[in-house]
Amino acid sequence: MHVVKLKKGKEKAVKQLHPWVFSGAIETVNGHPVNGEIIIVNDNKDIFLAYGFYNNQSRVAVRLLEWDEKIIVNENWWRKRIQKAIKARSKLLLDTNTNTYRLIFSEADFLPGLIVDRFSDFLSVQILTSGIEHHKEIILDELELLLKPSGIFDRSDSSAREHDGMTASNGKLLRGLQPPEYVTVKENGVLYDVDITSGQKSGFYCDQRDNRRIVAEYCKDKKVLDCFSYSGGFSLNALKNHASEVTSIDSSASALDTLKRNLDINNFKELNHKIIQSDVNKQLRAFRENGEKFDLIILDPPKYAPSRSAVNKASRAYKDLNRQALLLLNEGGLLATFSCSGAVDMTTFKQILAWAALDAGKQVQFINQFSQPEDHPIRSSFPEGEYLKGLLCRVFSFI
Ligand code: SAH
Repeated sequence: MHVVKLKKGKEKAVKQLHPWVFSGAIETVNGHPVNGEIIIVNDNKDIFLAYGFYNNQSRVAVRLLEWDEKIIVNENWWRKRIQKAIKARSKLLLDTNTNTYRLIFSEADFLPGLIVDRFSDFLSVQILTSGIEHHKEIILDELELLLKPSGIFDRSDSSAREHDGMTASNGKLLRGLQPPEYVTVKENGVLYDVDITSGQKSGFYCDQRDNRRIVAEYCKDKKVLDCFSYSGGFSLNALKNHASEVTSIDSSASALDTLKRNLDINNFKELNHKIIQSDVNKQLRAFRENGEKFDLIILDPPKYAPSRSAVNKASRAYKDLNRQALLLLNEGGLLATFSCSGAVDMTTFKQILAWAALDAGKQVQFINQFSQPEDHPIRSSFPEGEYLKGLLCRVFSFI
């Protein structure tokens, strides 16, 4: 096996079980491992540290898999890791009200670059590293054996693959049957038609499952505004929990078409629901000009900060968005506000809300905090995997 030797002092993160070795930490590579090949990582004194897979094109040159020298990373190792991740989801697998969730979440499940989502009888996979690409057939075999899906579909994000020197593979059927145009899934008893082959992300944002349920508990008899609604995750839960009126805003026509299908398949068509296709920032200003008010507003924008260097600009955008929403709430109203930017942590997010509140002339109480659900675990040795956060705010006029 080829050996990657680290520079002096660069073994610390590896010993703390962090799964990444950056190219700058490497002193020598013995031989010419092909990208994705399993290699040994040694410290500067040639003492074994871990096994991982190598990629000479990526800034993350080695992704670590195993820290016990006696455990060889062979076919059996891959199968066991997949079995462990699936077994950890046994509560979700048994839930008769939900059949869509993340089965494997990359580094957080000790499988760097592999994401597997379940959509009822279909699986969608994202293969984002050359190491996973190299072992793809074993991985697909084990997924078929364990879960017996009707089909496995490739939704690999092409930009992530390019970082690893691979070309896009999005859109391919990998195993079994081609999924229909829409697969109907269930989450907390609400039905969704999901376009697995071309919908955003992997077709459905299953990371908001718990948060949709919690926010909906506050929606009874309330006039609700769901901003960045996509296919209606929060709106449908609000309607199910007897909101008096729900308005959904999104800029994407196809997302709103799916929302209309979802209203239909849940028999919610007769309920009090409005759809607005618009830019949220523009629409919030228009509501203010018209004197429109709401009891509960949801803000679930796309990722504003793709990296740490974008945090300042993103913070200003989050602040302005939240300020606009705060101005539209009735006295004592609620704002459920989210950020899926990993680079904006909870402390920063609370600070942003505090600034927005001051500017809007409001007092805010944080009455609940949101995170990502159990199928998107946060591994203690990989804090980079934490990205979703949210706050439920009760909002009063400045006293
Ligand atoms: N809340 C959704 C997920 C939101 S994803 C759910 O529960 O499923 C973010 C959404 O924001 C996407 O649907 C995208 O189309 C929409 N979007 C992005 N920028 C926007 C903008 N400026 N105005 C309105 N919608 C926007």
